[in-house]
Amino acid sequence: MNQFIMDVVIVGGGPSGLSAALVLGRSLRKVLIIDYNHPRNASTKRSHGYLTRDGISPVKFRQLAKEELKKYKTVNSIEDAVIDIEKKAGIFNITTKKGFNYQSRKVIFATGMKDQLPMIPGFIDVYGTSVFPCPYCDGWEHKNTKLAVFGNKVELFTYIKLISHWSKDLMVFTNGKCNLSDIQKNELKQHRIPLIETPIQEVQSVLSQLKKVILTDGRIIRRDGGFVMTNTVQSSNLPSKLGVEMDEKGRYQTKEHGLTNIDGIYIVGDATKGFAGIVGAASDGYETGIKINSELVEENWNKNLK
Ligand SMILES: Cc1cc2nc3c(=O)[nH]c(=O)nc-3n(C[C@H](O)[C@H](O)[C@H](O)COP(=O)(O)OP(=O)(O)OC[C@H]3O[C@@H](n4cnc5c(N)ncnc54)[C@H](O)[C@@H]3O)c2cc1C
Repeated sequence: MNQFIMDVVIVGGGPSGLSAALVLGRSLRKVLIIDYNHPRNASTKRSHGYLTRDGISPVKFRQLAKEELKKYKTVNSIEDAVIDIEKKAGIFNITTKKGFNYQSRKVIFATGMKDQLPMIPGFIDVYGTSVFPCPYCDGWEHKNTKLAVFGNKVELFTYIKLISHWSKDLMVFTNGKCNLSDIQKNELKQHRIPLIETPIQEVQSVLSQLKKVILTDGRIIRRDGGFVMTNTVQSSNLPSKLGVEMDEKGRYQTKEHGLTNIDGIYIVGDATKGFAGIVGAASDGYETGIKINSELVEENWNKNLK
């Protein structure tokens, strides 16, 4: 095999990509991580729920992971964006935005998802600091506080019930007419959870802490934090271009171990799970790294047979 050909190029250096790199480095594999450093959780100051790292800043988490990877000399990392991939004679040619080309036997997409926020003035200031997407990530810090739930998707009712576990002082803002059934509305009433369908004019915050929700009818409602149902889209459409299919929620479809319908292409983390969380993303990367190493062992073994 040409010495300049990588065993694995990992597109994306979040927890899923970095975890795959670690197990592949420990498996003596030539790995290149290409990442343009725009993780999904960039807006948040603290990440929770990763054993031994509960409350760590996402920036620090990446720094620590990259420090650990330095020990594995066959693993390299560059800051760049992958803009094109094609497969020729069983090898992937990878082109980056800075104009470089790399070749690899296998490619892992660890590219994650992006959240689209409601188009409400002031929302961007509170997202990730006092309004969050996931109660498992940030519910404990906001337990029993005055919370807002923002959203109007089909899963809204289930989401409200979930958030109500962390605080009973809940108000639901659908920013327009909602599709909850009369039975569901009645259940909210019984749980004393106000449902506000009036459009929102803006949200106001102090130092990124949500303070007020201002409605278009002039009402001002005091809240100290909240949770939001975002719309999500893939960070990278390259797997689609290669022929990897998506499910109805826009997640790339994978089989076990991150395998896709395209030979040599693997997908891990949020890009296939939707919202893996840091520990789930890292677990995905680890599992796929092991799978790829065992495939490469097989391929090399068979090549040397007469
Ligand atoms: C506000 C917020 C708070 C959160 N808090 C928590 C928490 O407390 N605990 C928790 O467990 N989870 C939390 N999450 C979820 C967590 O961030 C994700 O589940 C996790 O980051 C997924 O990891 P990943 O490796 O799949 O993707 P990401 O971490 O998003 O990494 C993907 C990487 O791929 C790179 N990339 C994408 N396309 C390309 C390309 N073409 N070329 C090169 N690089 C590319 C991006 O720059 C990015 O660095 C939170 C999410 C949000 C939005």
